[in-house]
Amino acid sequence: MDRQGLSEHEAAARRLQFGPNALPERKSPSFFRVFLGQFLSPLIYILLAAAALSVFLGDVEDAGFIGVVLLANGLIGAVQEFQAGKAAAALRQMEEARAIVIRDGERQELPARDLVPGDLVCLEAGGRVPADLRLIEVNDLRCDESLLTGEPDAVRKWPRDDDQGDLRASTAFSGSMVTRGRGLGEAVATGLATEFGKIAAAISGSQSERPPLLVRLERFSKNLAIAVLVAAVLLIAAGWLRGMPLAELFMVSVGLAVSAIPEGLPVAITVALAIAMRRMARRNVIMRNMPAIESLGSCTMIATDKTGTLTMNELTVTDILLPDGSEITLEDHLRPQSIEEEPLLSHAHPQARPRMARLLRAACLPNEASLVSEEEGWRGLGDSVDVALLHAARKGGLIHADVLADHPLLSRIPYEPDLKYAASFHDLGDEIRIFVKGAPETLAAMADAIAIGEDDQPIDRALLAAQKDAMAERGLRVLAFAEGRIASGASGQLTGAHLAGLTFLGLAGMKDPLRPEVPQAMAACAAAGIGVAMVTGDDPVTAAAIAREAGLRAEDDEIVTGPQLAEAEAKGPAAVDALTAKARIYARVEPLQKLAIVRSLARCGHIVAVTGDGVNDAPALKNAHVGVAMGRKGTDIARESADIIVTDDNFASIVAGVREGRVAFANIRKVIFMLVATGAAEVLLFLFTVPLGLPMPLLAVQLLWLNLVTNGVQDVALAAEQAEGDELAQPPRRPDEPIFDRVMIRRIVFTALLMGGGGFALYYWRLQAGAPIDLIRNELLLLFVMFENVLTLSARSERASLFGRRFFSNPLLLAGVAITQLLHVGAMYVPGLSDTLGVSPVTLEEWAMLIAPAAALLLALEVEKALRRRFTPRRGA
Ligand code: ADP
Ligand code: MG
Repeated sequence: MDRQGLSEHEAAARRLQFGPNALPERKSPSFFRVFLGQFLSPLIYILLAAAALSVFLGDVEDAGFIGVVLLANGLIGAVQEFQAGKAAAALRQMEEARAIVIRDGERQELPARDLVPGDLVCLEAGGRVPADLRLIEVNDLRCDESLLTGEPDAVRKWPRDDDQGDLRASTAFSGSMVTRGRGLGEAVATGLATEFGKIAAAISGSQSERPPLLVRLERFSKNLAIAVLVAAVLLIAAGWLRGMPLAELFMVSVGLAVSAIPEGLPVAITVALAIAMRRMARRNVIMRNMPAIESLGSCTMIATDKTGTLTMNELTVTDILLPDGSEITLEDHLRPQSIEEEPLLSHAHPQARPRMARLLRAACLPNEASLVSEEEGWRGLGDSVDVALLHAARKGGLIHADVLADHPLLSRIPYEPDLKYAASFHDLGDEIRIFVKGAPETLAAMADAIAIGEDDQPIDRALLAAQKDAMAERGLRVLAFAEGRIASGASGQLTGAHLAGLTFLGLAGMKDPLRPEVPQAMAACAAAGIGVAMVTGDDPVTAAAIAREAGLRAEDDEIVTGPQLAEAEAKGPAAVDALTAKARIYARVEPLQKLAIVRSLARCGHIVAVTGDGVNDAPALKNAHVGVAMGRKGTDIARESADIIVTDDNFASIVAGVREGRVAFANIRKVIFMLVATGAAEVLLFLFTVPLGLPMPLLAVQLLWLNLVTNGVQDVALAAEQAEGDELAQPPRRPDEPIFDRVMIRRIVFTALLMGGGGFALYYWRLQAGAPIDLIRNELLLLFVMFENVLTLSARSERASLFGRRFFSNPLLLAGVAITQLLHVGAMYVPGLSDTLGVSPVTLEEWAMLIAPAAALLLALEVEKALRRRFTPRRGA
């Protein structure tokens, strides 16, 4: 059993020789490719046709300008898309695989890429095999090799000494998943040399999913484009009937189409989502796929783990209780740094000490953790329950290695959440000794005696249950311990069947402090209309106590246990739904039952976020709208099944993620509003004028310019708006609610009418006054630049006033608006440009004449918001 593994020195040498244990990464597209990609759109082809037509008509200047617009648009789009892609790639890199190896005789965890051939690697259920391993020891080890073989069933693995010549049976292949058991193997191949590495190139096809929101909005953009094109064709027809020259009509229609079609929308949405991803990463939430942002934002129910998510997962044994009532309580003594200083047993009655020691022995033998000595005390490696028990044993004078030496290990049944216990079998020469630790009721069922006084006495299960409840009511996680023996001849297979007729030794209570930020996050959920349910494998009494502390109130009938759930499952979905409609706490549930809970909640119309960490949580994580894996405690399987990873395992981070999801969605609405309203206003202006046979209010190049300066960066800047602060003060959006809800449509129509109508009024009035058409166009273009900037500013919030305390919170947007305005006024003074654009400096009177309607628009938009604030309270509020 005593294995040394490689020395650090040797490992470093091999690392140089063999290189990192990693596959070459797929390169993300270069900037140039992204740039070229911008030109693959029908809109661009139309523009190119227009440029060609201009050249044909002898208007080389216009053609040149269209070329510049094309390049500028392409560049802006490419920069935005490239940045968004890079942000996503950076986030992917944070998901680095880790491996447990033995080097210099010590277990340690290190990045999987540092593995070298020859390393001794430990495998555990839930982990991804980090390299090709020849197995030396296995304990009920099963691997899912479907990634390599396509075979869906997990494959049983054997140690190399009894693989009967079948190399595959004794090799754990890199990339496969450990679905059950434990194993120890020697790395024989790493990186590209592994079987997986050899075929990885074939597997790693592009599989980047497009967010449904993006798909939906792309479809929407397309429909809008069609509408604009229809409008353009109508314009051409109407103009032609009015006897306008076709070439001019065509050019203007192209300009109009390009300006009014929100071609920047998909990019802006990608940017909004990418920004949300980055903000979430700052709050310890890593999105594994973009669609989850939307689901997270509209989530209505969070089904959360208890241990590690609501609590710190820093367990400390605070109570030890023997069946006769003798106890040690260390309430005020959490986590002493130096274990030896605290002779635990001195707190117990002298007569009880031997039995306490006996209990502690059963705590440290069926135990897979280890304590590593470090400068500032001892650090545990492994399951937190196991670590806490080793700490306690050590405080009681039992040193793990010594106890193991006295009790040579024959075999163990490792802890799995569905078993709720762990056991180990030890060779004591003339007999085999069994030690078990686990859930009290499970162990009480295995035992028929209790250790009281000198001798064992018949078991009193009611007494044990009462003792357990008393501890659990204090919020402690309670574990029980038992011991038994079998004749050494009776070896054969040592299995769970031998766990009968044991002697029950007593209980240990462990404290796991609540995360301090949890009560506040719970309150936020309540305000945000998000239900919270706790799902735990732990005892209902403990669960209820912790829930109370966390601020999650649950009446007795809101606590559902695993067996109750199983009963309902047998009766059918309706019975399960009746339970989940009320339940706030699910206790003693089997991990696989989480799936039934998730399915039922979804049936009842919830958008469910569910947390998980173990192998058996994977189905629930996959089936939930938002699968949330724990970054620290979570297994590889859980992480890979999840949509998001919470790196600090913290419930409060999930809530922060919900908030960012809502912010992202609100920002997308703002972008859509701004883009669609400006486009509609421009179309409207022409629909007012052309059928009347009036001269074109704006030229094609002017429309292109308008589009470039007012939408180019403003859409993306809007997508980056900060949270408004009330995101969690309203109920979740219904997921089936269209983005184009009534509020959105009404606001777009209102705004477009104001802008299009206002523009037309100015145009008509100036025309009647006999002003030259070039001058009118110059004024109208300036007016529209101001209109659209005003609109962008006002679009920063759907409800809140622009002049709130958040005015300066989006410097990019403010700068964009200011620069646009300066750019446009500047263009009036630049000789070549002003001719091409048909603009010229405006007089003070003209300024006054134009600023007035722009200010009026701002006022109207803000008044509309104020009225809505006043008369239509928040949905559901
Ligand atoms: P939780 O939902 O709090 O994560 P678990 O599924 O981890 O609960 O644990 C369920 C039960 O299994 C615990 O209440 C405890 O009785 C038992 N248990 C947990 N960890 C261990 C362990 N390492 N060894 C033995 N039994 C354990
Ligand atoms: Mg657990």
